[in-house]
Amino acid sequence: MAGSPRIGVLALQGDVREHAALLTGLGAEMIAVRRPEELDAVEGLVIPGGESTVIDKLSRAFGVQLPLRAAIADGLPVLGTCAGLIMLADTVVDAIDGQESFGGLDVVVRRNAFGRQVESFEARLEVEGFSGEPVTAAFIRGPVVESVGPRARALAALPDGRVVAVEQGGLIGLSFHPEITGETRFHERLLARAAERTAAAA
Ligand code: GLN
Repeated sequence: MAGSPRIGVLALQGDVREHAALLTGLGAEMIAVRRPEELDAVEGLVIPGGESTVIDKLSRAFGVQLPLRAAIADGLPVLGTCAGLIMLADTVVDAIDGQESFGGLDVVVRRNAFGRQVESFEARLEVEGFSGEPVTAAFIRGPVVESVGPRARALAALPDGRVVAVEQGGLIGLSFHPEITGETRFHERLLARAAERTAAAA
């Protein structure tokens, strides 16, 4: 019998706790992922916001970069928020020297596209496929999606047209932080993708 879905949060650096609380609230079993063995145990993964350069370095130091790339290629559902979107992007503009991403999302993102921490802002977004209220999105030094390749699709844009949410199969990437405004629908979508994949494998 299926128990709670096991959802990982990549816990190398960043706002792990907020995602963990949200996932637990949705009935998932949260597993902190730092090592390949922990990655093997999860049905879906959140890559939190934080600092993509640090997440990149630590993922290599912990030996989790290559296993995570393989898991993404194998169809693991992943939700990346802010720095997590940078880590999912195939191409990163304004990266530091030698910075790598996990990749998987056919998009080009630009780091720090909305300016500095003091220029953080909230916006209301209509998201494709969500019913009910618009999403209240918090932008904190987030990346913008500069272009969406043919394999990915935009889910939401700011009023000026800049794309800030994308999806490709089981991958969801957000420029903003849903976890700090009480927005649960992206995590619910991740849980749904994880359940579908687990059912298909059974
Ligand atoms: N500017 C950060 C980076 O490049 C992302 C900021 C965030 O995740 N809130 O990783």
